[in-house]
Amino acid sequence: MNTKTIARISKPGIPHFVGDGFRVYNFIPGSSTMQEMDPFIMLDYNSKYTFAPSEIPRGVGVHPHKGFETVTIAYKGKVEHGDSAGNGGVINEGDVQWMTAAKGILHKEFHEKEWSKKGGEFQMVQLWVNLPAKFKNSEPKYQNLSNTAIQKLILPGNGGILEIIAGEYNGYKGNASTFSPVNLFNAKLIKGAASDFTFPQYYTTAILVIEGSVKVNDKETVPQDHFAMFNRDGESFRITANEDSIVLILSGEPLNEPIAAHGPFVMNTREELVQAYNDFNSGKFGYLED
Ligand code: MN
Repeated sequence: MNTKTIARISKPGIPHFVGDGFRVYNFIPGSSTMQEMDPFIMLDYNSKYTFAPSEIPRGVGVHPHKGFETVTIAYKGKVEHGDSAGNGGVINEGDVQWMTAAKGILHKEFHEKEWSKKGGEFQMVQLWVNLPAKFKNSEPKYQNLSNTAIQKLILPGNGGILEIIAGEYNGYKGNASTFSPVNLFNAKLIKGAASDFTFPQYYTTAILVIEGSVKVNDKETVPQDHFAMFNRDGESFRITANEDSIVLILSGEPLNEPIAAHGPFVMNTREELVQAYNDFNSGKFGYLED
């Protein structure tokens, strides 16, 4: 089996706020472009950050999305969501929310009310997965994957626990349904343990170290809050935990379709982008109260 080597390791840059509730490092399309990370078009990472108590929940008010899916992974803290398709709920610690915006949706994302009153440590990832052209105008969809609904297995050699959010590992399948082949795992690794991961060579593959520090292919160290992107030069790589660690692993088949992106809309052509703005401005994304 050929080794998949690291192309580059990106350290967290300068954080910015999304609304007033998410203090994020933007790794896609920051350190890596949308094109090279296809089908992953955006990754915002709110590393551990302590929010003071607030009676008014912090977050982002009503805003649109079209043409892709938003995947929110809560490591610490709680997020409350509501959208114009009538879906909503709380993303608790350990949960994942997989929202398919597709033909257009309005939603809002805030710290959960009670959590906000107490404040505390907050840590979250939001990943945008592009949709193939043929699904960009399909109906919105909502998958609430509570932690108990996430497939878990013990890594070979008792190396820790693998949460399979989407995709497949050693024949075990994640419960999230996707529109193109996407693997999304949380590897909770025990200090000293080594685990191997295999994906097709041509897939786009990356890791984000959420907690701890790991060594990849017995060579490069990827510290906490760093993002590492792999080359398309092999199938397998090894992750060895320097300490107890949590690593988000993403690997997906590139869509290889043109990308026309602006703000919260990601389409294939400029004409479709203009149409998306027209649809949004004429109220075709539905209604959602502030
Ligand atoms: Mn959003």
